[in-house]
Amino acid sequence: MSKKTCLYILFISLYACQYFKPQKLYTKTEFLMDTYIEVKFYTEKVIDADKIFDDVFGEISRIEHKYSLYKPNSVVNQINSSREAVIDEETYKLLSYAIFVSSLTSGAFDITVFPLSRLWAEGIKSKEPPSDELIESLKTCVDFRRIKLTKLNEKKFKVKLLPPLKGIDLGGIAKGYAIYSAAKVLESHGLNTYLINAGGDIYCHGDRIWRIGLQHPRKPFGEIMGIIELKNTSVCTSGDYERYFINRGKRFHHIVDPKSGYPSTGFISATVVFPNPVISDALSTGIFVLGYNEEVLNRITRLLEGLDYILIDEDLKVYKSEGLKKFSLSL
Ligand code: ADP
Ligand code: MG
Repeated sequence: MSKKTCLYILFISLYACQYFKPQKLYTKTEFLMDTYIEVKFYTEKVIDADKIFDDVFGEISRIEHKYSLYKPNSVVNQINSSREAVIDEETYKLLSYAIFVSSLTSGAFDITVFPLSRLWAEGIKSKEPPSDELIESLKTCVDFRRIKLTKLNEKKFKVKLLPPLKGIDLGGIAKGYAIYSAAKVLESHGLNTYLINAGGDIYCHGDRIWRIGLQHPRKPFGEIMGIIELKNTSVCTSGDYERYFINRGKRFHHIVDPKSGYPSTGFISATVVFPNPVISDALSTGIFVLGYNEEVLNRITRLLEGLDYILIDEDLKVYKSEGLKKFSLSL
């Protein structure tokens, strides 16, 4: 072999090593937003993983403090205490997303469900359903069309909750927004093959197919009903099996049907796949309430490209959109 050929081979090998360095997997789990959040990413680069995880979980914690009803100084509590507030662009965008999903689902998803969702959260704690009279009176305080958003200038916006609204609850959309923001932090570190799992709400990204197990709605935690394979998208599930109580043989859970004022009935699990996790999270809650309403679901699927869903009713009957038909579920 000539010297020149040897040099060529050496050069090609070095070049190949640079591009085909094995990717290393990094993972970390923390308990935030009342759930375990797992962040994993692959990279072949030399990185400071501790710093990256600190930044990612720091971002999720920031969002929790800003949008949780359980954090006394949160923006949500500020809005609810005076029913009007000057807000920043981030909050304006998040509220706009929420209102968008409310319109899509004809109000099945509605953040103004606040007085009822709090009432049922207390009911779940005490294992006692609230009184019918109270539910009837609070039902009239739910209507997303009475949220008024205005732009004051480039940086400042205003939200006003018109009477009789009592407040907003971002519990059905905040986790989706947290994983969306966490992903942005990973991208800012030059990472683009990752999966973020916030208690079953998942955002996966990069040049690989992720295999995602779907929790069986009536089996113990960790027992799955099937696996779906996804790439560059998010998948969120809303179900009646995580936060609930049984009273006189009836199950009461944390997702409220704004029309009835009671926990939504008929369906026990709703999974939504969509590239934007903010939409997936809110839509899974909305579609859970809506159930298999073919007309509305067809309208939403036509409008949102890349949307898929799996709905499971009380008799464990499964309703799947076209894109997920190839995956079988065992129920
Ligand atoms: P989880 O938070 O358990 O993943 P979801 O994403 O479905 O479940 O969100 C449920 C939360 O959303 C409730 O705990 C409550 O805070 C809020 N919520 C309940 N009912 C509605 C509704 N109809 N529209 C919007 N938000 C709701
Ligand atoms: Mg949700």
